[in-house]
Amino acid sequence: MNVLVINCGSSSLKYQVIDSETEQVLAKGLCERIGIDGRLVYTPAGGEKEVSDLDMPTHKQAIQFVIDALTNEKTGVIASLDEIGAVGHRLVHGGEKFACSTRITDEVIRAVEECSDLAPLHNPANLIGVRACQELMPNTPQAGVFDTAFHQTMPTEAYMYGIPYEYYEKYRVRKYGFHGTSHSFVSKRTAELVGKPIEDLKIIVCHLGNGASICAVDGGKSVDTSMGLSPLEGLIMGTRSGDIDPSAMEFLCKKENLDITGILEVLNKKSGVQGLSGVSSDFRDLQAGSDEGNERCTMAVDVFCYRVLKYIGAYVAAMNGVDAIAFTAGLGENDSVVRRKIVSRLGYLGIALDDAVNDSTRGKEAVISTADSKVPVWVVPTNEELAIARETVALVK
Ligand code: ADP
Repeated sequence: MNVLVINCGSSSLKYQVIDSETEQVLAKGLCERIGIDGRLVYTPAGGEKEVSDLDMPTHKQAIQFVIDALTNEKTGVIASLDEIGAVGHRLVHGGEKFACSTRITDEVIRAVEECSDLAPLHNPANLIGVRACQELMPNTPQAGVFDTAFHQTMPTEAYMYGIPYEYYEKYRVRKYGFHGTSHSFVSKRTAELVGKPIEDLKIIVCHLGNGASICAVDGGKSVDTSMGLSPLEGLIMGTRSGDIDPSAMEFLCKKENLDITGILEVLNKKSGVQGLSGVSSDFRDLQAGSDEGNERCTMAVDVFCYRVLKYIGAYVAAMNGVDAIAFTAGLGENDSVVRRKIVSRLGYLGIALDDAVNDSTRGKEAVISTADSKVPVWVVPTNEELAIARETVALVK
């Protein structure tokens, strides 16, 4: 079955068509600047990338262009829409309502809308994509795969904030966690690579991209994760601050004459390694800066790595041990310097890094610890689209 995987944001939409039998990507791309002007990027497997400027006033129009590209006589990968067996949507926040992926029904849409309070930027945008697909493909089953669902197994002690309980009762303010699709995919694959049943393993997954989070996976279940009510908590990220004393917000609001929206804008978009370095949120630029002697670039990377190191220590404690550590996403898969800065300080766990393998590992599966390391450390590329396609097929079959 071919699955159309959609990740719909407020002005952009990423898509892939995946053949679920072979797990090959038949085509992929994105629509950008929806509602502004519009650009379609389309790449068929083995073909040339095409970029076209097209008028996209709505997401429905954008998805129509995607369908046109997929069924184009010359460069399309399917003859007609009948060859799409299901649509899988990435949905960001399922609150406490969704502990797993689900077939999309009117009731599910209502429930996702009810969670929109918790993700006002993401959920409404995700649902626009769902509705547009329903209109254009009314007979094709659709599934929703939530970023938060995998973490619904966290115990109460891990997800409660130390604030008045009534805020949890009234508004469900608690830790939810994100990147769940990736943490689930990578932890399963790590267990396969380690060669043991996931039920018997304690795994720490470090998803280090522009957005970054860590997850403690005990017996295949998420028992703690670094992101919280929103993706702002936890690690220092490309432009997000991660953990910070909430009092700093009041202090900065007064000093800089900001309101709550203004300070959140700073913490989400102007902080992290971007804010620390003053150079870039992209670690490749930071590495280049560092090589040229820019001390703030070096400092930003060090602060980032130290935060990851502390979370790993916390999750070893939370699980009373660790059997494998996995690095994934843009940095985890590609940045050997970041991996070395973290892993070389895990000697207390009997972990030893194989520097040569680490240095030569980019974007591929590899064990980067030495043969006698007590805990294996793996690089495991994530594939959220494939994970969504798999979940979707399981739901619609
Ligand atoms: P997101 O999906 O959260 O936007 P990614 O997972 O794509 O982010 O990760 C982006 C980060 O990964 C950037 O900081 C970038 O520098 C880093 N990165 C991506 N590719 C490479 C590479 N080949 N070498 C080093 N760093 C890389």
